Amino acid sequence: MIYLDANATEPLRPQARDAVMDAMVLVGNPSSPHGAGRQARTLLDHARRSISSLLDVHPDNCIFTSGGTEANTLAVRGLGKGRRRLVGATEHDAVRKASDDMDRVEVLPVLPDGRIDLAILEERLADRSQETLVCVMLANNETGVINPISEVSRLCRAAQAMLHVDAVQAVGRMPVSVPELGADSVALSAHKFGGLKGAGALVLAGNGPVVVPPMQAGGGQERGRRGGTQALPAIASMMAALEAALAHPVDLSTLRDRLESAVLQQGARACGADAPRLSNTSCLVLPGVRSEAQLIALDLAGFCVSAGSACSSGKVGGSHVLHAMGLDDLAGNALRVSLPWNVEARHVDEFILAYGQMAERRKAV
Ligand code: PLP
Repeated sequence: MIYLDANATEPLRPQARDAVMDAMVLVGNPSSPHGAGRQARTLLDHARRSISSLLDVHPDNCIFTSGGTEANTLAVRGLGKGRRRLVGATEHDAVRKASDDMDRVEVLPVLPDGRIDLAILEERLADRSQETLVCVMLANNETGVINPISEVSRLCRAAQAMLHVDAVQAVGRMPVSVPELGADSVALSAHKFGGLKGAGALVLAGNGPVVVPPMQAGGGQERGRRGGTQALPAIASMMAALEAALAHPVDLSTLRDRLESAVLQQGARACGADAPRLSNTSCLVLPGVRSEAQLIALDLAGFCVSAGSACSSGKVGGSHVLHAMGLDDLAGNALRVSLPWNVEARHVDEFILAYGQMAERRKAV
């Protein structure tokens, strides 16, 4: 089996596995005042400081969550409370469907290359009659397209709007500094950069603890912003995975480009290729061949890839991302190949071969 579905989840990094093992033997609850609790708290605080420093935020503003969906929901519902919400058309469902009050949501269109339409954002922000939260992702999970967040931030600042950035696919794959992005909040998820599933964070700009109304108050953990005992082994893995990802950055664009130029010969097309993209992600559309058929044929040939968005590949459907990019006719023909951190060149070569055979067979049908 060859795994090329990193945007669904990255393989666990060895450093993260070691960190999980070490954390699992700690008995205490980080909120307990006794010795065992203090040991757990020490590790939790260490993880918070390390992750915060890698993202350039104050440790008081790193809120641990169960993953990217929860981090995004906390931002949209907490920071977005009482605000109009301008949400990019290609956002992940974790953001698109996060609002408790859909009447407050307005969709921001994207350009044909998949990047947010800055002119329309500026126009919408000209309406200052209500306070606004803008949600624009850093890198798209289906196409890898990278949004011009600094520009988005400049427009938000000028209009006194808040900016939330879903950086779930970007963290660990490209440098992410919250102050440099100019975001008020950023969501991340451990399993997207080689940590364990079940931990994520919402990190916030600011030099002291920023107030965010919690979705669950519980025992007041995370400074009252997210109640519930923290998943220490998963959080420890998140720290170790992020440290490892940033210490050994990999540029997969050579392999990705090799893959794309080979499949383009088969009549496929790479979506979003005109925009800056994550180096590991390729969204390939093969006209006339449904995503499901491509997925099944490649699965039978031993390749794990995906169609549509990561978390919904079990319910393959037309991609809202490709519809938003104006590719209505092709939205049901997409296949996402996302190279993991430990991919080998021979995996890509084998994929190219299998893709070619699949495309030839389908053309013959
Ligand atoms: N945001 C993006 C861009 C994603 O790709 C995903 C998962 O695929 C999420 C949010 C949700 O993250 P999690 O699986 O940690 O809930």
